[in-house]
Amino acid sequence: MASAQTAVVTGAGSGIGQACAVGLARQGYRVAVADVRPDASATTAAMIHEQGGEALSLAVDVSDSASVQRGFDRIVGQWGGVKVLVNNAGIVHQSLLEHLSDEDWHRVLDVNLTGMFYMARAAIPLLRAEGSGGRIVNISSVLSTVTRPLNGPYSASKGGVNAMTRALALELAPSCITVNAVAPGHILTPLTVPMFTPAVTRAFEERIPLGYLGQAEWIADAVLFLVSPEAHYITGQVLFVDGGYNINGDLPNLEFGR
Ligand code: NAP
Repeated sequence: MASAQTAVVTGAGSGIGQACAVGLARQGYRVAVADVRPDASATTAAMIHEQGGEALSLAVDVSDSASVQRGFDRIVGQWGGVKVLVNNAGIVHQSLLEHLSDEDWHRVLDVNLTGMFYMARAAIPLLRAEGSGGRIVNISSVLSTVTRPLNGPYSASKGGVNAMTRALALELAPSCITVNAVAPGHILTPLTVPMFTPAVTRAFEERIPLGYLGQAEWIADAVLFLVSPEAHYITGQVLFVDGGYNINGDLPNLEFGR
């Protein structure tokens, strides 16, 4: 990059968001590290500073539009504008839909879908002000298209992320701002470590065509590509980074058509 540009990453205090923030800083971006937990965003900002990068630690709850606006006000005050938004913050709440409370349904949708809308809405005027080449990358999930019992609210929220990605991409195309989603498969992060017991890990290794769980840095690699100049002609797409999980309709341990 000719001169430093600003990237904003939500949920950047942990896991995939942290890997994206660190990766963007290594590419020369000034990174606004936004997380609902100020201690977590401060940790990621410190990692970036230790590596010689520029970071601004922000406490932002993406499900609260006033908190989102305060975050952008801080960024504009410090650095003047925004070139890249990585909408990553997300939560999981496992429950059968028939037993799910109003509150838990709304919490998942508020963080995973409405939060991305609040962030994008606040970022758009800033992205436009930078001229062409702005980028939004939304972190979706393989569970936006395939799903399992107990993941109803999560899958609904991520299906909404894919649809909103396409809608935003169309609306922002005239400004040459691209909007894409990255849909991770099963990635080892603080979110999933408690769920990935040895038995679950073995089952995933059998089900994932490439045969192994993913790492946060591999999702960050896809995000870094989508924000790069080389990806200027890609918009409105959902890029699955899942070891082939979403295309696997095989019937294991069964002779069928072979
Ligand atoms: P993670 O390790 O839990 O990191 C997510 C970060 O976002 C946490 O620091 C979390 O804080 C923060 N956060 C939660 N609610 C927030 C809010 N309202 N505002 C701002 N920040 C908030 O999770 P991850 O595994 O890296 O997941 C990141 C994204 O990837 C999510 O959108 C997730 O759905 C998606 N994804 C992950 C996987 C996977 O296998 N890991 C697969 C597919 C998709 P708390 O710790 O306090 O909640």
